[in-house]
Amino acid sequence: MKLYNTLTRKVEEFEPINPPNVGMYTCGPTVYDFMHIGNLRTFILSDLLLRTLKFNGYKVNAVQNITDIDDKIIKRAQEQNTTIETVANEFTEIFIQDVRALNIDLKKGKQPRATAYVELMVKYIAILIDKGFAYEKEGSVYFDITKFPDYGKLSGVSTRELKTGTRSLADNYTKDDVADFVLWKAVADDGTKRFESPWGWGRPGWHIECSVMSQLTLGDQFDIHVGGVDLIFPHHENEIAQSEAATDKKPFVKYWVHGAHLLVDGAKMSKSLDNFYTLKDIEEQGFDVLALRYLYLQTHYRQEVNFTWDSLEAAQTALERLRNEVSDSKKDGIVSAEFERHFKDAINNDLNLSQALAVVWEMLKSNILEEDKVATLFEMDKVLGLDLKNKQKKKEIEIPEEVQSLVREREALRKEKRYPQADQWRNKIRKLGFDIEDKDGETIVVKLNRN
Ligand code: AMP
Ligand code: ZN
Repeated sequence: MKLYNTLTRKVEEFEPINPPNVGMYTCGPTVYDFMHIGNLRTFILSDLLLRTLKFNGYKVNAVQNITDIDDKIIKRAQEQNTTIETVANEFTEIFIQDVRALNIDLKKGKQPRATAYVELMVKYIAILIDKGFAYEKEGSVYFDITKFPDYGKLSGVSTRELKTGTRSLADNYTKDDVADFVLWKAVADDGTKRFESPWGWGRPGWHIECSVMSQLTLGDQFDIHVGGVDLIFPHHENEIAQSEAATDKKPFVKYWVHGAHLLVDGAKMSKSLDNFYTLKDIEEQGFDVLALRYLYLQTHYRQEVNFTWDSLEAAQTALERLRNEVSDSKKDGIVSAEFERHFKDAINNDLNLSQALAVVWEMLKSNILEEDKVATLFEMDKVLGLDLKNKQKKKEIEIPEEVQSLVREREALRKEKRYPQADQWRNKIRKLGFDIEDKDGETIVVKLNRN
């Protein structure tokens, strides 16, 4: 399996630290609002990577944090005159619903929440101070990036651009402003949530959160870290600095995987530009949310995608065609080894899912048995995640009037508990090439497969 590694700027052979186990961490949502479909593109990337690893037989421990304490959540709670817990719980729940709707493989107990880790973050920061990498100033604690010579190795920023003594209290800052970053922010008694620490009352910075939660759940060193490209700097650069400083330079993460952005009219989809759509918008326009997943499969994750409703429409049509292919499959088929191999070659080539989709369509056009096509498609769908097994289309069948009246008569006989006669009526129906199935208390008529 080959993967592009942002750290080495190369496509590399994937060799986990401790095969067949793989540890993987994805930066999760800040739960103050709905996720937009750009965020969801990155979460789908993480899911596709997880599914590809599993397809290759790896045992994956996949963790994705939830940032439930943050300035944006506090602001939202103030605006709504409610508590930050209420805001965080509401949007965590919505996030989980979105993830389920998109068929993202979400494991219970693998979404650590920042607020549950604050004490451990305080301990971690104390270690960084002890080791000489961090200092306290006016109740806040900062990481001194001049003490970490490797600073910049992920993003390419240079510490030479650091103006001595510059500090950033914000979690995000631009590349022109390389600065000591905050680990612990002092918070005055303004009624907002804050925590006790050796440096006074405050809240943790955003970057420390991910170092602590990833290392405590996956170990000091693990295989894969995923996020959108906007996280390379400063977030992931700062995570490396914290984590490798705390563990005396043990390489923190082996492969850094970053997804390109979803754009609207050429600009990054984001809350701040107010150019975003949510899954709810997609549904309100009459789309199946899994069409969005199909849309994302069509472009390589390292390429930007410009979102348009037309492209979503085309994706939905393709998805429906796939659903038709598997509709009412009766016989069990055999997975085509040849097409499976081509499919695997594609996904293992740095997650080339558009190529994998081309293999899917080629397979469907081939002359292998219909039931083998279905079996092969279900196998491939373990990675695509389009949920074809559960969402297959029931073919509309035409039921002749004669059969319909026999069905009605049989129903009446059953109501009168005249079961032997009802069975005779069923035989009449079968002779006409149809049958009856009782499903969840509902009677459905099916066409008998006579070949
Ligand atoms: P945030 O809530 O802004 O921290 O974003 C959560 C995840 O979504 C991060 O991995 C971001 O890199 C990613 N992300 C944000 N905007 C976009 C976008 N327009 N396209 C793709 N991923 C995005
Ligand atoms: Zn993170």
